[in-house]
Amino acid sequence: MFRSINIFLLSFDMQSFYRIARSGRAMTLHLLFLSMILSSFGPLLISWSRDQVKSMKYFMPHELRLLTLIGQEIQAFNGMIDKVLIMVKINMNLKLVFFSIIYIFISSAVFASSSQYNLEVKRFVAMVGAMPNFFEQNIYLLVDVKTKQAAIIDPGNRSHEMEEYISARDITISMILNTHGHYDHVGANDHYSGKYGVNVFVSFLDEELFQEHFTDSSVMKDLNLIESIKFANYKINVLKTPGHTPGSVSLYIGDILFSGDTLFKGSIGRTWGLPETKKRLQIQEISSIREKLLVLPDATRVFPGHGESTSIGYEKSNNRFLIE
Ligand SMILES: [Zn+2]
Repeated sequence: MFRSINIFLLSFDMQSFYRIARSGRAMTLHLLFLSMILSSFGPLLISWSRDQVKSMKYFMPHELRLLTLIGQEIQAFNGMIDKVLIMVKINMNLKLVFFSIIYIFISSAVFASSSQYNLEVKRFVAMVGAMPNFFEQNIYLLVDVKTKQAAIIDPGNRSHEMEEYISARDITISMILNTHGHYDHVGANDHYSGKYGVNVFVSFLDEELFQEHFTDSSVMKDLNLIESIKFANYKINVLKTPGHTPGSVSLYIGDILFSGDTLFKGSIGRTWGLPETKKRLQIQEISSIREKLLVLPDATRVFPGHGESTSIGYEKSNNRFLIE
């Protein structure tokens, strides 16, 4: 006995999908299960290569029809999709219903265990500096996937890509955070605090560094006086990590750390001054890192102010400044 029904097989936030995809194994497992279940429906032409996912519009003969793949931008695996809905219209018997239910159980278990936090970090690279010495700086958007609230971290310059990302996804900006007061991290504070009507959190110990870049001091909050900030249903912990600048902080939330210019992949932030001062500040910076950052779990994902992301575990065993 066959009857025609629509089942909704997959509906999940693409941010979690992407995160799992990057972690590798769980996603492979997931796709394997999906393929297995779909293949039990009959002729199966689905292949999960990157290009095919992008242009996925398959029409199966009668037994299986992938009706719609809805995504704002179909560019799977590069993190641009908000939601993918795969609706399968099938002529289905009870055996298949059974498999689908099992699949949905398995998939929700995989997703539940993989995304302990509904937080995502999106990196935008901005160009800062002046001719001819432009260089790259990381602006981060910390997004609570559930509420679509976000914080902008270190807007060194305006990023159209980020602005488009925010408006295309109806993201609400709730604050701007600076890891320290250097111009390449605070340059677009004014612009974004005006545009989104939000406060800017920065340590006033760096006032000398940032003051010429601000016009509106009424929106500014002193991170040096703050231990933690409420963000959606989470708490952003403000870890004071002086060294690179007096007011340098690292921002810790969930399994995520924004390390500013204090800790980089394989390196640490530079310090300034006469040789003796420079050395003293570097010692201060290294003890900040040891006492405040290396004590975090190894799996903590680290997002620095410049360059690639890393993890606490990786830096513990690979960062030559930190290996004794
Ligand atoms: Zn800096």
